[in-house]
Amino acid sequence: MMTNESIWQAVLAELELELSKANFTTWFRNTSLSLMENNEVSVYVPNNFTKSWLEKKYHTSILKTLEQVLGARIQKVAYCVEKNPQKTQASFITQGFTFNHDSADNSLTVGPQTPVVQQNPNARGLHPRYVFDNFIVSKSNELAHAAAQAVVSNPGASYNPLFIYGGVGLGKTHLMQAIGHSVLTQNSEAKVLYVSCETFTNDFIHAVRNGVAKEFKDRYRNVDVLIVDDIQFITGKEGTQEEFFHTFNALHQQDKQIIISCDRPPKAIPALEQRLLSRFEWGMIADISFPNVETRVAILEARCSERGIKVPSDILHTIANHIQNNIRELEGALNKIIATIEMHKTEPTKEMVEQVLGSIKASRTIHSVSPKELIRVVSEYFDVGIDDMVGKSREKRIAFPRQIIMYLLRKEMKNSYPSIGAELGGRDHTTAIHAYEKIRKAVEVDNKLKADIQYIKERLYTPAA
Ligand code: ADP
Ligand code: MG
Repeated sequence: MMTNESIWQAVLAELELELSKANFTTWFRNTSLSLMENNEVSVYVPNNFTKSWLEKKYHTSILKTLEQVLGARIQKVAYCVEKNPQKTQASFITQGFTFNHDSADNSLTVGPQTPVVQQNPNARGLHPRYVFDNFIVSKSNELAHAAAQAVVSNPGASYNPLFIYGGVGLGKTHLMQAIGHSVLTQNSEAKVLYVSCETFTNDFIHAVRNGVAKEFKDRYRNVDVLIVDDIQFITGKEGTQEEFFHTFNALHQQDKQIIISCDRPPKAIPALEQRLLSRFEWGMIADISFPNVETRVAILEARCSERGIKVPSDILHTIANHIQNNIRELEGALNKIIATIEMHKTEPTKEMVEQVLGSIKASRTIHSVSPKELIRVVSEYFDVGIDDMVGKSREKRIAFPRQIIMYLLRKEMKNSYPSIGAELGGRDHTTAIHAYEKIRKAVEVDNKLKADIQYIKERLYTPAA
């Protein structure tokens, strides 16, 4: 079962990726959590100073991460100063977030906790859970996985850069970090640095502002493996692109491995400098697509056994059938069900599972999306102006995304063909029919298009944070 400790460990694991090591250690050492029946949470902290700091600075992140881990809305987070820390305090051992707890309420613990990974100081930014051992390989990711293995066996030499792309929650971060861990297993002296694109950008801005360019260069150019996650966020940031270009060259010239992830292929990144684009295409480009139902069940099974929890197989199938396109959501749903089981202290029933899953679906429906919004999202994705999109041009660059809009208006939003034509600058309904049919057929054979459409759907259905 998910214990308070395991919930808090999962939250800390996420937070550590977001915060600097110093901040993380300062504010989260000796903290613990207790989850109440009514989805209220108490976070126990050692002193008042930490309490006010967490409330002011980290509450939003804590709340967001908690909800993600539990897959449920949290009503309230209370920060409490622990009067008797000896009793319930979780003590901090390693960066691998393993807690020594002598708290009384670990009676729900069944089976092993998250494996203890002694973090190597060279493993900067790596999350101990993201390793090859618990990465399930299937058709949807076998190319990316094989490329990742090749990189491990020959860093800097086989595929450089390795560029992994795919939709949200499909395992890009997990796979890239697994490479980092494996490189370190082979050679504990290797310097591995994992950063999000945002961290890279922020570090760069900080370096410029504070005149510490040398520090920045030392950090980024003195590594054996540089992993940059979600590079799509570099769009429109010219200074950062330029700096990344130089960092890339410096590393590449020394045969240092570069690994990049993105939510789309290099060519589809809008406003990316040509010279960067061409470098991204130098090495290996591998995509990760949606896992099939067997894979989704296998992932759920792996998660359960990792945590020493038994969930009947028909329930795992129900979850896997309900959530098809995002492994993070799949795990979120599992967590939510486990949390519900734990709260009610009962065996899971099919009704209960369906109820929980139903509430997940309810939070992301198409009905709240307007045609205008869909047009905006697609235009943004393909970097076409809205005026052009609803205008007369038949240039392929514009006409093709326009057809995708018509397809989605029909398929997802069930609009009538005449209204679709009207929405797109007063086109005839036969044009809308033609577009719908064309894209419908193309999706079946074109994985890239399928991925594009999936990405757009995710944008539409994920409520803006
Ligand atoms: P992305 O970076 O593509 O958005 P993540 O790497 O963060 O996705 O993966 C989301 C979640 O799904 C993580 O908890 C990860 O461990 C899990 N996951 C993704 N792919 C797999 C896989 N093939 N096997 C096991 N777990 C996976
Ligand atoms: Mg990621």
